[in-house]
Amino acid sequence: MPAPRHAYVHVPFCRHRCGYCDFTLVAGRDDLIEGYLAALSIELQRVRDPLELDTLYLGGGTPSHLGPDGLRRLCALWKSRLVPAGGAEVSIEANPLDVTDAFVTVCRDLGVTRVSLGGQSLDAATLRALDRDHAPADVCRAVERLHAAGLAVNVDLMTAAPGQTLAAVERDLDAVIGLAPEHVSVYCLTWEQGTAFEAARRRRDLVPAEESVERMMFETAIDRLEAAGFEHYEVSNFARPGFCCRHNEAYWDCRPWEAFGPGAARFDGRTRITNHRSTTTWIAKTLAGEDAAGDVDAMTAEQAAQERIVVGLRRREGIERAAFQAASGLALDPLAGAAIARWVEQGLATDDGSRVRLTRAGMLVSDSLWGDVL
Ligand code: SF4
Repeated sequence: MPAPRHAYVHVPFCRHRCGYCDFTLVAGRDDLIEGYLAALSIELQRVRDPLELDTLYLGGGTPSHLGPDGLRRLCALWKSRLVPAGGAEVSIEANPLDVTDAFVTVCRDLGVTRVSLGGQSLDAATLRALDRDHAPADVCRAVERLHAAGLAVNVDLMTAAPGQTLAAVERDLDAVIGLAPEHVSVYCLTWEQGTAFEAARRRRDLVPAEESVERMMFETAIDRLEAAGFEHYEVSNFARPGFCCRHNEAYWDCRPWEAFGPGAARFDGRTRITNHRSTTTWIAKTLAGEDAAGDVDAMTAEQAAQERIVVGLRRREGIERAAFQAASGLALDPLAGAAIARWVEQGLATDDGSRVRLTRAGMLVSDSLWGDVL
């Protein structure tokens, strides 16, 4: 297996835990930052020879929460081992509130090319309903600052927020299109076990949107973003030409990647190793020189190929049979032929004999299809 050309660094700190979020993070625990940096420097020693990278992604949590000085310290840890090649994509996730002039300067100094903003909405009521700590004007200001510095911008948008109407989603889409980001990711709110939102749903304090309304919101997002010149290149992702997220494309191509930090999952093409999700446990184990892996998923060739089907079909370009066989060593049809035929019959996929793609109807229900092939 060739050395990975993609790496992910997980930064688990947030100012505040949004009520719907079940990501690997700690909120209001900046006292752990020193331990995190010390543990990360140890975990990075796993890389013996410097890795030349096509993409590097700093995700979270909220990497921008480290602030300009923290980000410089983080970069000093990785830079001898993770080396972005010329033309590499270097992405960082940011809270709009953190996008100050000093943050923009540090991004440029560190070679960041792309900033992904957790905007979620440009409507004050929706942001409040989502328990976010920023205002619409913060998102607008952040995009302007980043564009002025020549950085590409992704804006995350959330649909089906509590109380959000279809008209509010339309206004959000128009507002985000008006900001002219290079990339937009649209996610439908999910009600995850253990979150404050899920507890409120059980008490009937919060009511999820009807499934048919959720679907209309997502169809509206596809229509408006495509009409504005964005390519809908993956179930949740839209990009102007030339601005697809190359890091995520590596995941969807099942290329090997490295990953560091609590909850971070690395993949060598067959085995996925996920670090311990608890930030404190990951720090303690790493500092003690113990293995901080929480889960090891060693896939058979067949399981790896099944996963390749799922991530491949999430993309608008779908799966090309010959390329699939060359990459996985297995033919597509013995693994998924029956499911594909059924989806085609139901109008959820197209199959021209060489390439299989989900239709828009298939994209809208994609999560419910994967059980047919896994
Ligand atoms: S800022 Fe992002 S990662 Fe942090 S709690 Fe909110 S949704 Fe989760």
